Amino acid sequence: MKIPAVDLSRCSLCGACIEVCPSVFRLNDVGYIEVIERISYPEIEVDEAIKYCPEDCIYWEDA
Ligand code: SF4
Repeated sequence: MKIPAVDLSRCSLCGACIEVCPSVFRLNDVGYIEVIERISYPEIEVDEAIKYCPEDCIYWEDA
């Protein structure tokens, strides 16, 4: 299974991923983007978030 991941060292907290794909990305309690734990991930929506991320810091990881 593929799981989305975020390189937090490059994330500028612009919020685009949350806007495009709120079922996968959220802001956590300490103010960082995190990937919500799910059984599966909507590939098209995550690919949209990857496309719109201005820092190119979202990617797919093999679980
Ligand atoms: S779109 Fe990219 S830079 Fe913007 S908050 Fe999400 S991961 Fe961070």
